[in-house]
Formats: sequence, structure tokens, C-alpha cells
Amino acid sequence: MTETFLTDILILGAGPAGYTAAIYAARANLKPILVTGLQPGGQLTITNEIENFPGFANPVQGPWLMEQMAEQAKNVGTVIHYDLITQCNLSTPKKDDPYFTFHADSGNIYKARSAIIATGAQARWLGLEAETRLQGFGVSACATCDGFFYRGKKVAVIGGGNSAVEEALYLTHHADHVTLIHRRDSLKAEKIQQDRLFNNPKISILWNSVVEDILADGNPPVVTGLALRDVVKNESYQIAVDGVFVAIGHTPNTKIFNDQIELDNEGYIITTPGTTKTSVPGIYAAGDVQDKHYRQAITAAGTGCMAALEAERFLASST
Ligand code: FAD
Ligand code: NAP
Repeated sequence: MTETFLTDILILGAGPAGYTAAIYAARANLKPILVTGLQPGGQLTITNEIENFPGFANPVQGPWLMEQMAEQAKNVGTVIHYDLITQCNLSTPKKDDPYFTFHADSGNIYKARSAIIATGAQARWLGLEAETRLQGFGVSACATCDGFFYRGKKVAVIGGGNSAVEEALYLTHHADHVTLIHRRDSLKAEKIQQDRLFNNPKISILWNSVVEDILADGNPPVVTGLALRDVVKNESYQIAVDGVFVAIGHTPNTKIFNDQIELDNEGYIITTPGTTKTSVPGIYAAGDVQDKHYRQAITAAGTGCMAALEAERFLASST
């Protein structure tokens, strides 16, 4: 049997942004409902050690950290629903019906006076079988998260945009050598970033090259190299590396908000600078769904906190 739930505040997403928003909203007595989506815990559930989330002297496991956040949100009064929002109506609520409407996969309907969108983003991958198998074993999409593990080693970065260049430059602080691999003969990244890349003695570039396979040895596996193809010469070749960082862009989870809320040309939710306000009053966005620059658990949690405080003020001013 399907149900309709009424709430002051609905939180979409169970990553660091969603859980932090829930903790703050629950502690403000707003009795939030949080809908988890298909990945309760969010992106950190697919990684192992987290070393950069403050509060832990030693590395913690991603899934464990997210279980703790879920428990904390529940303990202060958040109601968690394991469901997926598939459709929404964010047209400005009317006086006689002050609710935004959200439809879930289960058939349930949520009517909320305000909502926090914290549906995250997903790294784009090349689509190789080895890439999935070796994630956490030498293949990563986040240099800030995993670069530290490659001190004194050789790594490769795939991509030619700002992210790839930024990842490559960042990795030079840890790795001995960084090879940037790009499928064309020119970069998409900003010129100033390109200059930094070209002038860095620890970085070399392989142009016109695509990754055909990621090579690994052992059990548990350890990445040993890349099988590449030069698309101009149509020649296959291999290089030895200890780690591979895929940086070919991210896709924010905003499909269901198309035509409902203002998104930028890459699909990220646009927020008023310095706030989590979206183009619809009463709807807030936190975490990776509105952030293409930092994409960290702590920044997601920080904006989750901001969103809950802003929603609380909105609710107080509209009653
Ligand atoms: P996410 O964690 O992406 O969570 C999104 C949530 O939204 C999920 O629960 C999902 O199920 C839900 N959702 C999606 N669509 C819907 C919908 N339609 N309805 C309801 N719910 C929905 N950061 C660090 O700070 N340190 C690290 O060491 C680190 N390591 C990482 C390792 C890996 C492999 C990856 C991929 C990322 C890593 N990050 C790390 C980045 C960090 O995970 C993200 O920045 C952070 O998780 C973003 O949090 P978020 O809450 O915005 O979104
Ligand atoms: P992006 O600009 O879309 O660049 C993606 C890169 O990956 C492109 O070079 C693309 O190649 C390559 N690529 C895509 N699919 C590929 C595939 N299947 N195989 C091999 N290569 C592939 O993504 P981004 O670098 O993540 O940047 C996203 C946005 O965030 C941009 O607007 C960027 O400016 C912004 N950003 C800004 C900063 C900053 O200002 N400091 C930092 C990071 C990101 P082609 O070039 O051939 O298309």
C-alpha cells in the first residue's frame, strides 16, 4: 500500500551532505525525513580508507564512517526511508497547499514545505572491466583522496580538462612521476593550468593516446601498468605505473530536476554564492550536486549544515 508523507523538510540523499543536513534539521526539531536513494551512505561506501575527514586520528573505513553518520542522524530524530525519488514538482507552493511534491519509486508521495537536495555526483569512468575490478587497488577518481598512497611512485592521470590537470599537479606533491594521458593533441584545461602542467618537471604527457586496459598482478591485485593505443599511429604500447587516476569529468545526479530548478550547462544545481539557496525559494542544494570544484566529504558535510540552517530560517519566516 502506498502512502503520502507530510514533512517540513525532506532531504534527498544519504551521503555526507544529506546526513549532516539531517542531523542539523533534526536537532532543530524539524523532524526531517531523509530518502536515501540507491546508495545509502553515498560515494564513500565504495572506498576503503578515509584519512582526511577530521576527527579521527587514524584512517577510517568509508562504509563505517557513513554508518556512523546514519546512526547519528537517526539518534537525533531523523526518519530514514530507503527509497528513490523519481519525480518532483517544485513549482512555488500556494497558500492553500504550501507543499512541494516528490514521488518515490515505491509509489509513496512526499509533500514537503522545504527540501534539501543532496543527491551527489558520479565520476565518469572509461568503461573498462579492469577499472571496476581495480577500484581501491590502484585505480581511483580522486587524487585528493588517494594521492597520499602513491608517495615515491609513478602514476598516470587520464583526461585533458581542468580536473585532469589539477589532479596531475596535485599528484606531483606525492608521486615521483606523473604521466598525463589524453586522447587528443591539445588540452581543454585553462591556459594557466596548462602552463603549470607543461612547466612541471615531474609531469610528462602522452598525446593522442587511449587506454585499452589496466594491467595488474597479484591477489589482492596491484596495478602495474597501462595498455595504451596511439590513435594517430594506430599503434599499441604499454607503460609501467603504480596507480591510475581517471579524471574525465563527473555527472551530477540532477536528471529529475531538469526543468524544475536552475542547473548549469553541465547539470550542476546553481546556488546563490555563499549560500545553498537554489532558484526555487525553499529548495536548497548541498554537496557534490552543486559543487564541481572541491568534491570532498567535509565540504559536502559543511554545505549540508548550511542547507539545514537556511531551510530552518525559511520555515520560520514562512509560518
Ligand atoms: P554522495 O556521497 O554522492 O551521496 C549522494 C546520495 O544521494 C546517495 O545516498 C544516493 O543514493 C542519493 N541519491 C541520488 N539520487 C537520489 C534520488 N533520486 N533520490 C534520493 N536519493 C538519491 N572525499 C573525501 O573527503 N575523502 C576521501 O578520502 C574520499 N574518497 C573518495 C573515494 C572515492 C572512490 C570516491 C568516488 C569519492 C571519494 N571522496 C572522498 C569524495 C566524497 O565521497 C564526496 O565528495 C562525497 O561523498 C559527496 O557527498 P554528497 O553527500 O554530496 O553525495
Ligand atoms: P571536462 O572539462 O568535461 O573534461 C573532461 C576531459 O576528459 C576532456 O579533456 C575529455 O576529452 C576527456 N574525456 C572525456 N571522456 C573521455 C573518455 N571516455 N576517454 C578519454 N578521455 C575522455 O571535465 P572536468 O575536467 O572534470 O571539468 C568539469 C568542469 O569543472 C569544467 O567546467 C571545468 O572547467 C571545471 N573545473 C574547474 C576547475 C578549476 O577552475 N580549477 C577544476 C576542475 C574542474 P576531450 O578534451 O577530447 O573532450
